[in-house]
Amino acid sequence: MRSVIVSGGSRGLGLGIARRLRADGFQVIAIARRESEQLSGAIRDGVAGEGSIHFRACDLTDVAAIAPLVKGIRAEFGAIYGLVNNAGIGTSGLLATMKDADIEALVRLNTLSPALLTKYVVRSMMTGGGGRIVNISSIVSATGFTGLTVYSATKASMIGFTRSLARELGTLGITVNAVAPGFIDTEMTNELGERDRERIARRSALKRMAEVSDVSEAVAFLLGEGARNITGTTLTVDAGGTA
Ligand code: NDP
Repeated sequence: MRSVIVSGGSRGLGLGIARRLRADGFQVIAIARRESEQLSGAIRDGVAGEGSIHFRACDLTDVAAIAPLVKGIRAEFGAIYGLVNNAGIGTSGLLATMKDADIEALVRLNTLSPALLTKYVVRSMMTGGGGRIVNISSIVSATGFTGLTVYSATKASMIGFTRSLARELGTLGITVNAVAPGFIDTEMTNELGERDRERIARRSALKRMAEVSDVSEAVAFLLGEGARNITGTTLTVDAGGTA
């Protein structure tokens, strides 16, 4: 069974991705600081004939913990085929008044930790004869959004990371792509009011918001056989919000 690491796999988009990849037969290793009740439920709900979901705890801002984490996963689950860099925080604030510590925390989890996690996972993929990497970006990296300057910078960094890494790893049979979701209902966006949701839906081409399942489908496609010749690209999943 092929193994895929999903960072931030305990809830929201990451949990949806973990469930969807399990349905495709993958052995999913979900990483987060805590195993949520939803994740425990998902692990219990496993169906015979599908893949499986496993949880390993790690605070990915503790960058020294990343190499041992990957080493442990490799020893336990074998060669790693896929990596979904999904863990992230969405701290908002006007740049002029944001705390330096909040700015640093955003860059640490959203940019530094995926770079390091990818570094160590890629070493395993090199010996496994290929692999798939999907980086979760955001439409705000391209559109801009008041109060999300640093968050947007970190999400834009995932696009540059994706394109250059795709070049670097192509000859090894490893594809690297990004998915850029629009606003999706998760804990990260729970500050959005009903009027914000209506406005986002009204402005989108399809007059609705994209959902967790839409993002999960996009990630599953990029991890699947059908995407073997797709690398270095960004798939936008926003119900046409930026169309
Ligand atoms: P959630 O806040 O719902 O989930 C975040 C996940 O990341 C959780 O599993 C959380 O688990 C984990 N996480 C947070 N901090 C750490 C840490 N220090 N170490 C390890 N894991 C951590 O977010 P979403 O599902 O909404 O977002 C997932 C990704 O999608 C993010 O990268 C986000 O930027 C991106 N995105 C989201 C959009 C949206 O509208 N929701 C839109 C566009 C992009 P725990 O707290 O237990 O560690």
